[in-house]
Amino acid sequence: RKEEYVLAIRARTELDNSELNKHDTERLKQIWSLVRPRKPKSPLPPGWKKLDVAALKQIYEDQVRPDIDRPNDKHWIKWNRPTLVTEIHLWHAQVMETAEPEDLFSETPLCSKCRIPMCVRTNRVTKTDFLGCVRFPLCRETLPLTYNGMHTKHVIEDLQKNEKEEKDLKEREMMAGYRKAVPKLTRSLPVSTEQRGESSDGSWAVTGPQPVDETQDEGEGPNLYNTNISREELEMVMELRKSKEHAEK
Ligand SMILES: [Zn+2]
Repeated sequence: RKEEYVLAIRARTELDNSELNKHDTERLKQIWSLVRPRKPKSPLPPGWKKLDVAALKQIYEDQVRPDIDRPNDKHWIKWNRPTLVTEIHLWHAQVMETAEPEDLFSETPLCSKCRIPMCVRTNRVTKTDFLGCVRFPLCRETLPLTYNGMHTKHVIEDLQKNEKEEKDLKEREMMAGYRKAVPKLTRSLPVSTEQRGESSDGSWAVTGPQPVDETQDEGEGPNLYNTNISREELEMVMELRKSKEHAEK
């Protein structure tokens, strides 16, 4: 029983056998409940097979008939209960088969170490809620419930999206021959999802047509955009810089 949990959890997290075997079966059960695949949400009310004929006809008329593209000619009006149940059941089975599983991690972010959705806990002293790892005390990862009033999960998703965009942009620049030492990002929270170009001396340039966001300039540290520069000018600057670097060597 315990081994089954270990195997199943291992397949869906970053954890190995030895790490998982430190937990008892109860805790493994709890972890499994957080990482197991979820069934898609059914479009029908629970226990719909027990509904009366009128209600079943309504379901057929409102949900099934438009979805399977049959004429709205009340062809179901004389159907009996078993026929209705069969028709709805067949449709339902197909819907469930093609439906996307529900977002497994819809409520909380993943523990960055274990890749398990975190749990909401309450600090015993301050009575404030925070996110903690279900493997506590073996894993002591925590996160605040919110960042600047935003759900932490959404902040993390934005961050990841930004990081990916920065990476993509960097790759594009590399491809274009703009080999630059890009300073490590110091920004810790996402403020925008725009793509940015970056240069090694701290001045900023955008490598393509880019909308200017004036609101970014105030109180956000250094001016991030040098918008008075065209692509051609930028390329010239890059060339100049390159030849200067050569000369210095
Ligand atoms: Zn953890």
